[in-house]
Amino acid sequence: IFVEKGKIKGKFAYVDGKDFHHLIHVLRYKVGDKIVVSDMAEEHLGRIEKIEKDRAILFLEEKMEGNAESPLEVFLFQGILKADKMDLIVQKCTEIGVKRIIPFVSEFSVVDIKRANIDKKVERWKKISEEACKQSGRNIIPEISAPVSFKEAIEKAMECDLAIIPYEKEEKKRLKEVLKDVEDAKKIGIFIGPEGGFSQKEIEKAINNGIVPVTLGPRILRAETAAIAVSAIVMYQLGD
Ligand code: SAM
Repeated sequence: IFVEKGKIKGKFAYVDGKDFHHLIHVLRYKVGDKIVVSDMAEEHLGRIEKIEKDRAILFLEEKMEGNAESPLEVFLFQGILKADKMDLIVQKCTEIGVKRIIPFVSEFSVVDIKRANIDKKVERWKKISEEACKQSGRNIIPEISAPVSFKEAIEKAMECDLAIIPYEKEEKKRLKEVLKDVEDAKKIGIFIGPEGGFSQKEIEKAINNGIVPVTLGPRILRAETAAIAVSAIVMYQLGD
């Protein structure tokens, strides 16, 4: 998370305003969660120490040196999958360099998030991602949000320069052709369906919002394979 100059003081950082709202109310970070905090001059691994009414106080555990981050921001919109598959996606996509993972619930989702104790799962994904960051030498822990609806995921994708939606029934547009034409994109969104895939209606909705359907070829990949493979292809082709 970025804070204004002057908000990092000694061993503490102070997050307020829009960043506070995003961190606490949107991403639902809690006391004890860790996040990288930067004021553009220095970067630290911080732990949320206290959440007040309109600001969070972070204890800075460690100064981060070097930079393994790509300027490309890949947002993975992932149809929520059964537990171990999400764990795998979080770990591997963090290593690959994905900046945000946004799980979503869609028509053919098989995971019932009401019963699935989702807060605990999000906590678990954040921990897996933090470990993967350390292991791969990344400076920035990807943001992992609580699951949103497909409609909300589409709204969030509007901030991307390009968003793609791999769809088995797409016959014409191949991923490599779409990526070949991309110039100067900083934020790329990738939508991967759940085990049951996307409905035709969802694909139409995505297309109406400028999201580009692509084929990954004639073999149907498992959702977790598709998420990892497409993230790696996009990072290789457009990132550092
Ligand atoms: N249930 C679907 C079916 O009947 O074929 C398969 C869904 S697949 C397991 C999960 C997701 O991976 C899809 O929603 C899509 O985003 C992606 N996917 C897998 N293979 C693909 C391919 N060959 N082309 C495009 N997308 C693919």
